[in-house]
Amino acid sequence: MVLYAEETIHPSYLLFLLLRRFEKGRIYTFIGEVVVSVNPYKALNIYGRDTIEQYKGRELYERPPHLFAIADAAYKAMKRRSKDTCIMISGESGAGKTEASKYIMQYIAAITNPSQRAEIERVKNMLLKSNCVLEAFGNAKTNRNDNSSRFGKYMDINFDFKGDPIGGHINNYLLEKSRVIVQQPGERSFHSFYQSSINDAAEFKVVAEAMKVIGFKPEEIQTVYKILAAILHLGNVKFIVDGDTPLIENGKIVSVLAELLSTKTDMVEKALLYRTVATGRDIIDKQHTEQEASYGRDAFAKAIYERLFCWIVTRINDIIEVKNYDTTIHGKNTVIGVLDIYGFEIFDNNSFEQFCINYCNEKLQQLFIQLVLKQEQEEYQREGIPWKHIDYFNNQIIVDLVEQQHKGIIAILDDACMNVGKVTDGMFLEALNSKLGKHGHFSSRKTCASDKSLEFDRDFRIRHYAGDVVYSAIGFIDKNKDTLFQDFKRLMYNSSNPVLKNMWPEGKLSITEVTKRPLTAATLFKNSMIALVDNLASKEPYYVRCIKPNDKKSPQIFDDERCRHQVEYLGLLENVRVRRAGFAFRQAYEKFLHRYKMISEFTWPSHDLPSDKEAVKKLIEQCGFQDDVAYGKTKIFIRTPRTLFTLEELRAQML
Ligand code: ADP
Ligand code: MG
Repeated sequence: MVLYAEETIHPSYLLFLLLRRFEKGRIYTFIGEVVVSVNPYKALNIYGRDTIEQYKGRELYERPPHLFAIADAAYKAMKRRSKDTCIMISGESGAGKTEASKYIMQYIAAITNPSQRAEIERVKNMLLKSNCVLEAFGNAKTNRNDNSSRFGKYMDINFDFKGDPIGGHINNYLLEKSRVIVQQPGERSFHSFYQSSINDAAEFKVVAEAMKVIGFKPEEIQTVYKILAAILHLGNVKFIVDGDTPLIENGKIVSVLAELLSTKTDMVEKALLYRTVATGRDIIDKQHTEQEASYGRDAFAKAIYERLFCWIVTRINDIIEVKNYDTTIHGKNTVIGVLDIYGFEIFDNNSFEQFCINYCNEKLQQLFIQLVLKQEQEEYQREGIPWKHIDYFNNQIIVDLVEQQHKGIIAILDDACMNVGKVTDGMFLEALNSKLGKHGHFSSRKTCASDKSLEFDRDFRIRHYAGDVVYSAIGFIDKNKDTLFQDFKRLMYNSSNPVLKNMWPEGKLSITEVTKRPLTAATLFKNSMIALVDNLASKEPYYVRCIKPNDKKSPQIFDDERCRHQVEYLGLLENVRVRRAGFAFRQAYEKFLHRYKMISEFTWPSHDLPSDKEAVKKLIEQCGFQDDVAYGKTKIFIRTPRTLFTLEELRAQML
């Protein structure tokens, strides 16, 4: 089912359509070139070899809507036109993004390397296996999704001039490391922590095997498990207060930790209870308060997990990166990127993490607008084709609200974190009020006292493109500073386990050398988002929009309200609106003639009309398609794909 350009789309109609198709197990729908997917919550027999064969090498609209159609389109563009392409998958947690990304990878693996070159098969195997390892360490059971990715992932697959995969690269974004310390009721920490217990034992084997196959060395795998064990033991470290100084209640754990981390017991104890500070020319060991000690312990547990995760990604990248490919001999190496990243989040209690995730979605929406809407409009203008102005909301103003230098929320937050002395979340909120109080997309209790949705003193609200979100400022300062006492870094750097030591190069610095403030969490995230968007913008985009039909993981229920909301904030209707005014296909006159000139005696074998444009006009009129096309300055625009297919058929008859 394709929503063609000329159809009138009302939101209720789109919902009705999705519902009807969902009930029949048809979970994919095209809107223009965007694939909409509704999570079926049951196994469907639509990903097998026979289905793959049906989509292989076909044109986008030739077969019913499917992920494979979009994967094939991205692959064809990459192979035929040497374009770098990317497939962006979005949707809320549990909507089916990660499953979609896996099916896309499987499809690409299935259609490539027809000659079965051993090296290519090896690369494919690595790419698929790496997924399993990443999921073990980056996914967890949440209330929304039993296998929820707790990090954003962008994966490049590199192809050689034949179109076969030769390597890849993974970027990870914002791992939810706080999960190591606390989980919501009913949720769990990362899978990796359980895959030694009975329930997950089978999966443990799979992951251990995958790590081995990918090429992790035995001592590396062992270190990984030691780190996991150390984190679990850290969780049991308790402090008791003796006088005004804290002591470690259960000292035995400290020696276990020391052994796991290949360091000395007294050094672990010291790192947990003291921190080294430079005061003027003196260097002293300052004893923690109990609160500081607990804070330090948790920060340490989170940091070693995050570091472990990033190290795993780096190791995988070392292994899968393109090797021995000489572009001067073999030609261009092209890329398909697959983005599987957290969708918009609105919880009962929204904190720093939701702020980052929703900012990420603003960035991606802005990119979408730029790529689809602006590009279309601009091309029509360039080509002199009448463009019916379409009203859409440009969210650049919200992107600026968050990321603008000096004036944006992140800059204000960083400023607050930079202040020496005790800075509170309240002071941060004050600064927001005074600098952004008049901004149309920001409000708080202070600036909007009558607003009942701002329940608590520390609440502020951002009017996102997808809807309003109330954030609690509580914890923003801490999470943004993301302080890990240097003592822990030194402890790790001085480990006699070389794998562990290598994970912590900055532990080398002595206290007097640590002068520069590290970048804050929000700024690091902002920089990574800007780089991601720059990268995506350089590629030809394909979109998959995932919808979660209900909150019960049920294959039967299509919750109207929930779906309506997602249709809204995925920008689907906006998309339809543009496509309605748009054209499915366009091509330069000369190229068009080259392909279709055999259809008409006016153009075959060559024409004597004043221009290619005139010749194309003649050809189109002879076929009776004049109402479905527009003539630009250099290109012909065709509204519906059907016309294109008919042209292809006519061409085939002539050959
Ligand atoms: P997300 O990555 O968007 O959070 P997932 O891709 O992990 O969501 O999907 C959540 C769950 O929904 C999966 O574990 C699976 O049970 C189910 N699911 C998602 N997509 C499909 C599909 N195409 N077919 C069958 N089940 C699916
Ligand atoms: Mg996921």
